[in-house]
Amino acid sequence: MTERAYQAIIVGGGFAGVAAANALGKAGVSTLLIDRNSYHQFQPLIYQVASAQIGPNAVARPLRAILRRRRSVRVLTASVTAFDAAAASVTTEDGVVYTADFVVIASGAEANYFGTPGAEENAYPLYSVTDALSLGSELFDLFDDSDRDPSIAAEVVVVGGGPTGVETTGAIAETIKYVLPHYYSAELSARATVHLVDMVPVVLGAFSEKSQRYARERLERVGAQLHLGVGVTEVGPDSVTLADGTVIPSRMVVWAGGLKAGQLLTSSGLPQGRGGRIDVNPDLTVPGFERIYVLGDAANITDARGDKLPQLGSVAKQAGHWAGRNILAQLRGGTPSPFDYNDKGYMAMVGRGAAVAEIGRRRTHMQGFFAFVAWLAVHVTLLSGWTQRTRAVFAWFEDYLSHSRSNVVLGASRRRGSD
Ligand SMILES: Cc1cc2nc3c(=O)[nH]c(=O)nc-3n(C[C@H](O)[C@H](O)[C@H](O)COP(=O)(O)OP(=O)(O)OC[C@H]3O[C@@H](n4cnc5c(N)ncnc54)[C@H](O)[C@@H]3O)c2cc1C
Repeated sequence: MTERAYQAIIVGGGFAGVAAANALGKAGVSTLLIDRNSYHQFQPLIYQVASAQIGPNAVARPLRAILRRRRSVRVLTASVTAFDAAAASVTTEDGVVYTADFVVIASGAEANYFGTPGAEENAYPLYSVTDALSLGSELFDLFDDSDRDPSIAAEVVVVGGGPTGVETTGAIAETIKYVLPHYYSAELSARATVHLVDMVPVVLGAFSEKSQRYARERLERVGAQLHLGVGVTEVGPDSVTLADGTVIPSRMVVWAGGLKAGQLLTSSGLPQGRGGRIDVNPDLTVPGFERIYVLGDAANITDARGDKLPQLGSVAKQAGHWAGRNILAQLRGGTPSPFDYNDKGYMAMVGRGAAVAEIGRRRTHMQGFFAFVAWLAVHVTLLSGWTQRTRAVFAWFEDYLSHSRSNVVLGASRRRGSD
């Protein structure tokens, strides 16, 4: 079955897809936004959902609520199973084919296990709210089980020392140090440990040496054990083996070790670049297809200055807006222009009162409490929706003042099931 054609179809309601839909909707372009979830998720904070610092309803917001004023945009909840660049069409799981003048693929990425034996089966990815909820359930389940039976190791392993790995390790280390003593025995609190493993010898590889040193020292100060310069060779159900022969007894492994583009791009037949992503033109179109755009974590983007851009929320959001503008120009008979990225730098939270930031193109360094406040301000501004912002700020205050984790009941554990 083929549905009526739209002027534009957007696959994915993340940072890139929503920004593109907003730009097109504002101009009254008939647009179909398809996402497998009915909600937009704010990935930069999902590690806090996993550590029960904030609830899932602070980071997820219905796409229909975000786009309610964009009358020309229709939101469809469905999984896209195929994408045909030549026909400018996408097919959803129920076999319906949607066609359009322009197609924007903003379907994000998924965990890349780099073929590490056992990783896909036994490690927990951290890319969606669902991932965060299942990780959070299992984390507190592990502490419960180890409290009951001390032969179960209360050890958590985080693989990957980039921003996601560092933020997750910091949050779990602080949970162990400050929250566990309130809820569990002193004995469990004393032996619970979080390990961070990365094959490169530093954490936060893309940041300055100052930031790397600060993050490392801070993580160690709150009790995290760092294994740097050594890779993971196997993830078993109850242990992780490192390349130097170390075996860490752990049934809780968080995979923050890399991302790759999802299956949709693999099956599209388009040539794939680094990480399975599409190497797009500077104007964000796919080489050879001037009406097909690929954005955000699904694309390798080189901007108007020739800089290769990282997979970041700010890049995805600005690219979505830019693609919307380019499509409008093409609809009016003009040509698309190269993406001019406004680089505001990057930042990472290391823990309570501790963050690092490299601000602007000059990468002005900030660390400690002021960077922490800047991180909070930036993330609260970027969060979609006032209700979500209020929930996040309230939860942060509660956590900061009391170390209480009122979001600790996170749903059913996969291991134990529920009734
Ligand atoms: C844990 C974590 C922390 C991060 N922290 C930061 C940070 O602090 N700062 C920062 O700038 N960036 C951060 N990032 C990176 C940032 O979140 C991503 O770069 C950004 O979300 C990419 O946006 P996107 O729109 O390309 O993809 P996404 O936001 O992933 O959106 C993709 C959307 O596509 C949908 N989708 C996928 N496949 C299909 C399909 N087949 N059919 C239908 N729908 C589909 C998904 O449901 C999803 O809604 C972080 C990422 C993670 C995972």
